Amino acid sequence: MNSDSVAMTDLSGKMYKPETVCIFGTGDFGRSLGLRLLQSGYSVVYGSRDPKNSLLLPKGSKVMTHAVAACDAHVVFVAVQREHYGFLSSLASDLEGKVLVDVSNNLKRGLYPESNAEYLSRLVPGATVVKAFNTISAWALQSGGLDANRQVLLCGDNADAKQQVVDIAQSLGFTALDRGSLRAAAELEDLPLQLFPLWRLPLNIAICLTAFIFFYVLTRDVIYERVTNGKDIAFRIMISLANKVFPIVSLVMLSLCYLPGTLAGFLQLYNGTKYRRFPDWLDRWMLCRKQLGLLALAFGFLHVLYTLVIPIRYYVRYRTNVYVISLVKGNKTYEFDNTMSWRCDSYYSMGILGFGLFVLLGITSLPSVSNSLNWREFRFVQSKLGYITLLLCTAHTFLYGWDKFLKPASYRWWMPPAYMLSLVVPCVVLILKLILITPCMDRSVTRIRQGWERQGKTSANGRDTKTNYPLIA
Ligand code: NAP
Repeated sequence: MNSDSVAMTDLSGKMYKPETVCIFGTGDFGRSLGLRLLQSGYSVVYGSRDPKNSLLLPKGSKVMTHAVAACDAHVVFVAVQREHYGFLSSLASDLEGKVLVDVSNNLKRGLYPESNAEYLSRLVPGATVVKAFNTISAWALQSGGLDANRQVLLCGDNADAKQQVVDIAQSLGFTALDRGSLRAAAELEDLPLQLFPLWRLPLNIAICLTAFIFFYVLTRDVIYERVTNGKDIAFRIMISLANKVFPIVSLVMLSLCYLPGTLAGFLQLYNGTKYRRFPDWLDRWMLCRKQLGLLALAFGFLHVLYTLVIPIRYYVRYRTNVYVISLVKGNKTYEFDNTMSWRCDSYYSMGILGFGLFVLLGITSLPSVSNSLNWREFRFVQSKLGYITLLLCTAHTFLYGWDKFLKPASYRWWMPPAYMLSLVVPCVVLILKLILITPCMDRSVTRIRQGWERQGKTSANGRDTKTNYPLIA
């Protein structure tokens, strides 16, 4: 396809010449971007060191030397590694007045004193540099962006230049998000180097909690039995112990999702304003609540699976058979205990309902589902139903323990049963929430969240009267 000769018609039937975009570099990214641009109706011209030997380029594109290619387009994508940017300074006059799009990433953080985009801007001062597309992979460009992040983050100092890149991104089916001036380029270049940043804290919590609870139940159940009675019940590690650890971790992590919200409520009450910044640790904690919740759900799911296999376990079948045979041999009857049946059914019922709502919380946290909910619906599910889920799961655990906490035999080596540990954080959260929803507290919190401030907390210039720090909403 020759961009000079091809004319296209728009919806009204008028003829127009497709816009030409230049790409420097015929590597993976350049080729994928070119293909996508061609599919979106642009003409593509490549600038290469060796135009004659450039292979595998998308059909319909042209390839020439850098200087000639740059003349054909107003927007030039630099799809070359930063280490090779040196050649661009010799093209400064050809690139005068052009929009240069820097798509580059680095292998490590802090490799260079300035961002790649700022470096490019310094090499070609006559061009306007926009940082964009570096968070989109060559694969996402080729596959249509449906299975990967569809957001193109961009930054730059010139609004017109940024708008031209936004238009291209949108024509390619991406949504563009302006992250400010070119100084933000370093931040954008760091983004692809991050590995699940919001999952790090929740994963660390999950690992530490799992390890702690596992060693706790191992000591209380297996090691205690071995030391005091000489019995080896280590086989219980595989299912019994795992099925004690997972629900505990799940419940504690679910309550950790809701604890920062209640703490924030009390902090706002104490500060008498919502315009005072939360401490950094609370901010970070609030930001990873979704990940905490999803991990809690995963542990809850494991608990359900482990529970389902209980009836087919050899140990359980053996114990049941021995018990039944002993009743038969002793000519004894197994009396029906009404209280026990209520306890058992309520225990299972709370667990099933709690897990059902938990799954609903997980589903509504998926972007495709949450995007279809309005803010009120999302809050209703994540907050109101979330607290009900926590309440049901806590009740499930209370019913599991029943009166065990009254029996001295439950405290082995002065260690209470593990389920009791799991109730501490959820009970704290539920009590704090209960206090917050009492009418007088609720009224104050609601007023503060609507912008009301207690007198003396802020000065006229919007600064904290004690610290003189600017207040952030
Ligand atoms: P690549 O496959 O290595 O291609 C880079 C291209 O740069 C080469 O094909 C070559 O094109 C040109 N080049 C190489 N050495 C050069 C030199 N000394 N002087 C001038 N040009 C030279 O790399 P890539 O994966 O396409 O990545 C290109 C840029 O996009 C990088 O900055 C990368 O960080 C960024 N990026 C890549 C991806 C991805 O998924 N691959 C995603 C986001 C951002 P010619 O032989 O035609 O000159």
